[in-house]
Amino acid sequence: MDAADSARRAQLLASVPSYRLCIGCGACSATCSAGQFTQFNIRRIHTAFNCGQTDTLAEQLDSCMLCGKCMLVCPRGVNLRSLIIRMRQLLAN
Ligand code: SF4
Ligand code: SF4
Repeated sequence: MDAADSARRAQLLASVPSYRLCIGCGACSATCSAGQFTQFNIRRIHTAFNCGQTDTLAEQLDSCMLCGKCMLVCPRGVNLRSLIIRMRQLLAN
């Protein structure tokens, strides 16, 4: 992870502190509306972002409809909609 990736990760955690509670269980991707019909995998995306592997994430995030279904099943109360919106913003910069 380079300095830019570390800065982006810190900004994401500052904006969406609930993401610190993520245990990587995958309930979000299992219930995701977009993931039922495409290769879209929100857990893979936020994990990759967290690891600084951001190459194709902006394009992948376009598939999210911000329906919020993933938030309803997250056992840790992660605000996934805010997380996705913030990842989009950070990847656009
Ligand atoms: S459901 Fe919540 S805790 Fe589980 S991987 Fe998704 S964001 Fe993390
Ligand atoms: S908000 Fe996005 S990631 Fe969450 S269930 Fe809906 S389409 Fe999937």
